[in-house]
Amino acid sequence: MATKRQLLEVSGISVEVVRKDIKNLHLGVYPPNGRVRVAVPLRISDDTVRLAILSRLGWIRRKQTEFIRQNRQSKREMITGESHYFRGRRYRLDVIEYDGPATVQLKNNRTLELLVRPATGRDDREEILNRWYRRMLQEEVPSLIAKWQQQIGVVVAEWRIKKMKTLWGSCNIDARRIWLNLELAKKPPSCLEYILVHEMLHLIERRHNKRFIELMGHYMPNWQLHRDELNRAPLAHADWKY
Ligand SMILES: [Zn+2]
Repeated sequence: MATKRQLLEVSGISVEVVRKDIKNLHLGVYPPNGRVRVAVPLRISDDTVRLAILSRLGWIRRKQTEFIRQNRQSKREMITGESHYFRGRRYRLDVIEYDGPATVQLKNNRTLELLVRPATGRDDREEILNRWYRRMLQEEVPSLIAKWQQQIGVVVAEWRIKKMKTLWGSCNIDARRIWLNLELAKKPPSCLEYILVHEMLHLIERRHNKRFIELMGHYMPNWQLHRDELNRAPLAHADWKY
């Protein structure tokens, strides 16, 4: 596919314009710094692109502000008193130093205790918490996959968890392999389920077309609510559109 890249300056915002053989203009704002990129059909003039960007300036600025705020938020110090999320719920981190193996435990639905050996540094604390998030997801996912395999009538050959910067999930259709973002451990269970159903439906429809949306509506009538919830959350996939 022939593509051509250029930079366009619109109202002080620098926009990467990519021309390719597509039908519709697609505008996205990307983490971590709110980079703006617009993919446009080959034959659209610069003025038309400029106008399209101008008409969405409010949205672009809002997204950029969100990313900057999230960026600040995501630089956690991993110390007592910080807010951390698990399954959509906010917990107060309590770091307790003790002479034993590192452990994470939830207390009273309000406190997330991180028990670590004295002098465990910030990065190691984060790593311990991430390992715990991963384990919690690993426990949660199999029954959801089993449930939806039966309902949709597809088979997932393999699923894995990883940290991803721009996606909540992805699907390798040929290998029938699903990737889930580790961050989903922090989101409400309904969001995790939504991402799973979305990725599993790609096993019967590759593209985000009309049929795909109909399938989503059939299996999960409220899917937009979950998508919006994820889009509001940090690490949002800012250009999801259906
Ligand atoms: Zn998809």
